[in-house]
Amino acid sequence: MARIVMKFGGTSVADIDRIRNVARRVKREVDAGHEVAVVVSAMSGVTNQLVAWVNQLAPLYDAREYDAVVATGEQVTSGLTALALQELGVDARSWQGWQLPLVSDDAHGKARILSIDTAEVLRRFAEGRQVAVVAGFQGIGPDGRVTTLGRGGSDTSAVALAAALQADRCDIYTDVDGVYTCDPRIVARARKLDKITYEEMLEMASLGAKVLQTRSVELAMNHRVRVQVLSSFEDKPGTLVVDEDEIVEKQVVSGIAYSRDEAKVTLTKVADKPGIAAAIFGPLAEASVNVDMIVQSSSEDGQTTDMTFTVGKADMERATRLLKSGAGVTGYAELISDPNVVKISVIGVGMRSYAGVALTMFQTLAEKGINIQVISTSEIKISVLIDEQYLELALRALHTAYGLDRQ
Ligand code: ASP
Ligand code: MG
Repeated sequence: MARIVMKFGGTSVADIDRIRNVARRVKREVDAGHEVAVVVSAMSGVTNQLVAWVNQLAPLYDAREYDAVVATGEQVTSGLTALALQELGVDARSWQGWQLPLVSDDAHGKARILSIDTAEVLRRFAEGRQVAVVAGFQGIGPDGRVTTLGRGGSDTSAVALAAALQADRCDIYTDVDGVYTCDPRIVARARKLDKITYEEMLEMASLGAKVLQTRSVELAMNHRVRVQVLSSFEDKPGTLVVDEDEIVEKQVVSGIAYSRDEAKVTLTKVADKPGIAAAIFGPLAEASVNVDMIVQSSSEDGQTTDMTFTVGKADMERATRLLKSGAGVTGYAELISDPNVVKISVIGVGMRSYAGVALTMFQTLAEKGINIQVISTSEIKISVLIDEQYLELALRALHTAYGLDRQ
């Protein structure tokens, strides 16, 4: 007997037939003798609609009321899923975040989970295996009001519940059948990975592979929750997200991710003296503009250098405006911004012990005549910023160069 958390995303609960399908899958695990908690998202498109209504009415909305509105999608699907299970003769009940309770902080709209009380769910498991159907994405804040965990947050609800229940597995059912070496819509020869490490998944998720909410991967890594990503429409194993020790054949590069949500900002001829970086990036940080890659060129004349960095596309205007208004403090010759860039990253825990991974990337891009504008690296990742128009060409070439192509 195992204890399992099964999470179903929006497309898996998109209509009544699909909710019936979910109930059949859950029943299978129950019939196999397992203790099951289910976490559901809202029906696909519903959260977007709810967010749109809030914005339409009040663009500068009160985040507590935003949460009151957007948390409702999951209330509907949790109730419907419990009903579908009951129709199949499975004992089940729905739980809203506040009923467990799943307690969060008060950062409405992007709240963090503080604790989950599982006592009652566990008591019902022990008593007669009642299935708990938990509304994902939502909790209750210290002010006693409904909170939500940020878009895609029901992944995090599921992993947190799995950790709190000390579940053997957290299965995340979605509309793709696992995690791929690269986006299969662009790279036709991308392969599904059987296993990926938490660290790699974390990089993939934060770099734009939208299979799992980044925070859910962090949580899984910290609590060593075994996560499986799989399709709710097919009957085959998905991708296991696990500890590095569990991966026998380590690839040097496991996957290639990309993000279109990048914009490049360059300040030319800023003074080359202590305190300048702080003067440039301080106001951006205060305005919650996230800066990602940064390069500072070496000073030719010993007086000035160029500073280039990237921000999210949506923040480009705000960043340039802030820099222009602070120009007197920092001083520069020219401010150039460019939203037509993408970031490509090759990721793999094997990089820690192999040299030459970066060189392969640089040579491959050079052979295609693609100019690298900015480079950044971490222990298990190398990222480059290139012109947006070469995205597909670069991804395919790199995928082949690292031996990732499906045969
Ligand atoms: N329904 C929420 C959203 O669309 C939460 C989730 O699906 O994970 O963001
Ligand atoms: Mg999702």
